[in-house]
Amino acid sequence: MRIQAEQFLCMHGFAAPPLDPEQAIAAQKLRVAQLSLDDLLIKANLPPEDHLKIQAMLDARKRHIVFRLGLGQQKRNWGSLHEIAHDVLPWQRQLLYYCPLIFMPEHIQQQFEIEADIFAAEAFFFGESFKKYASEGNFGLATAIDLANRLYETSFHATFAHYVEQSDVPCCLIIWRIDSRQDDAWYPGDLSIVYYVRSRTFCGHLEPRQVLRDKELVDTILNNTTSNGIVKHDLYLNANNKEPIVIPAESFYNGYNVFTLFQQHDLIHKT
Ligand SMILES: [Zn+2]
Repeated sequence: MRIQAEQFLCMHGFAAPPLDPEQAIAAQKLRVAQLSLDDLLIKANLPPEDHLKIQAMLDARKRHIVFRLGLGQQKRNWGSLHEIAHDVLPWQRQLLYYCPLIFMPEHIQQQFEIEADIFAAEAFFFGESFKKYASEGNFGLATAIDLANRLYETSFHATFAHYVEQSDVPCCLIIWRIDSRQDDAWYPGDLSIVYYVRSRTFCGHLEPRQVLRDKELVDTILNNTTSNGIVKHDLYLNANNKEPIVIPAESFYNGYNVFTLFQQHDLIHKT
């Protein structure tokens, strides 16, 4: 997938980040059609409960992409490269020319979607060169934030995940959801794990559905006033089916989720 993405970038003269999704769409000789995605899905007889799962659609024959109305800019940027992938990857293009993805068997849909997301990440982060840029800074969220802001101009969420996946440092990134408190809907409460991303070299297991109930820490992370927005703290964690442990970690709040990064050696040391 990396080679496919690098070939796409090279062939169209995209030499360095950031990648402009609009230019990428034009380079692939596609265009954005101002059509209603829901109308198309109704016409395709897709059950209404499946409509909301779909944010964008490629019509390989008519050479256009349709986005869901009101889709946020970051999701639209990501969706652009994801839909381009369906058109670039030769084995997908050949099939999708004859049959839209939504009519394919479930397992093929899943496979194609995973491939398109990997292609989108590889294209956004310029393949192999990501590691070079990432290694220019010290390991940690500060470097990942800098990459997202300065170099790739893309979301913190996507950049953090890619940073961890590509890292040679065994590490793990937790993505937390902020639960609103039952007694006061306007005041943020606990953090719950949505999922976590591991580097290839990380070997550890976190208990699912963990909740962070440290009100003071959550307040500090959500309202932090440090220059780069990162809070360094101790993290209580249930991992590797052992008793809860305390490990050094750092967290960042992007306005939607809280992200916490920690390293493998801290986990091994304690378990
Ligand atoms: Zn797709």
